[in-house]
Amino acid sequence: MAVPLRPWLFQIDAQGAWHLVGTRCRACGAHFFPRRAVCARCLGADVEAVRLSAEGILYTYTVVHQSTPEFPTPYILGYVDLPEGVRLLAPMVGVEADQVRIGMPVRVVVEPVRTDPEGRAVMGYRLHRLAEVPHG
Ligand SMILES: [Zn+2]
Repeated sequence: MAVPLRPWLFQIDAQGAWHLVGTRCRACGAHFFPRRAVCARCLGADVEAVRLSAEGILYTYTVVHQSTPEFPTPYILGYVDLPEGVRLLAPMVGVEADQVRIGMPVRVVVEPVRTDPEGRAVMGYRLHRLAEVPHG
């Protein structure tokens, strides 16, 4: 049994896969993450929940050397730009800091990030390096 880090972050599809959910404004088309009740661009309230792309481009990153005890250091925090125009912040895993490059393609992966006191996997999201796509 898995539980979400926050219930409004995700949706689960018919195949059981978890996806990030954001907000799309029906009036102006802007997207947001996390979800919003009102559009931050046009202030319209006609918004809907939409599944966001799982792949984007690394906008920037930092290496964190001091943190609270539950987050062992060093770790990488990255901002990824999704095709919808959403920029989100997440830990980046599976890559060393000297391999990270601004502009590299990354994937937002919904995965277990810890275990809660009842032993359930808590689902969060992290950034993974996207394998290079061979150039034709
Ligand atoms: Zn809007």
